[in-house]
Amino acid sequence: MKKLGKLYEGKAKVLYETDDPNLLVQYFKDDATAFNAGKKGVIGDKGVVNNKVSERIFKYLSENGVKSHFVERLDDREMLVKRLEIIQVEVIVRNVAAGSIARRMGVEEGTELKDTIVEFCYKSDELGDPFINEYVIRAFGLASDDEVRVMTETALKVNELLTRFFDERGIVLVDFKLEFGRHNGEVLLGDEITPDGCRLWEKGTLEKLDKDRFRRDLGKIEEAYAEVLRKVME
Ligand code: ADP
Ligand code: MG
Repeated sequence: MKKLGKLYEGKAKVLYETDDPNLLVQYFKDDATAFNAGKKGVIGDKGVVNNKVSERIFKYLSENGVKSHFVERLDDREMLVKRLEIIQVEVIVRNVAAGSIARRMGVEEGTELKDTIVEFCYKSDELGDPFINEYVIRAFGLASDDEVRVMTETALKVNELLTRFFDERGIVLVDFKLEFGRHNGEVLLGDEITPDGCRLWEKGTLEKLDKDRFRRDLGKIEEAYAEVLRKVME
């Protein structure tokens, strides 16, 4: 496999083409953004941590029947992935109220939910990833009904698996965001699963071990990311 030119540079990662049209290299940067890139910074070694955390989690999911774009990790900051046609819908799963839903529903962060929530957002930086539902997805042709069903079922399965995975490592999986894409007629999990897109609270202390430390200037950001890597490798 030969790495070729840049295909896309996003806020946290760069995608490179390879000599195989079905495969891309996903490079993880240290750049961090929040509030739709209204806040920018760097988290030392975040790229290395997120590459390795994603590898660990994609492998764990694959062992448990959830398919993703992950092929193999190439080095500290790069992984080989299957090229996806990304579905422009972010799928969010919530176990505890935090962030936008706590604001939207007027409850305190940390409020227990009576049931798991699955939400959809339209993946659009210009619009600030607005909240949408299945009717909007259908009306704008963002995904087929079948794809929405697969994304929802997969997201709930990932939630079950990762809730247990993190619980065994002393971490509460509060919520997380997934992206999916199409590859040879299949819908696969794409992007990354890392402290950038998950809320992870230390069991007991409820100390935040995720990007909220950056969003809210809580300090010890690098330490929190390193701690997550250490724990997922257990
Ligand atoms: P963004 O700023 O758009 O969130 P990122 O920095 O997260 O971008 O870079 C990753 C980009 O590549 C995202 O837009 C994501 O949807 C897309 N992507 C993730 N995995 C794949 C894949 N396997 N094939 C094609 N695109 C992908
Ligand atoms: Mg992204």
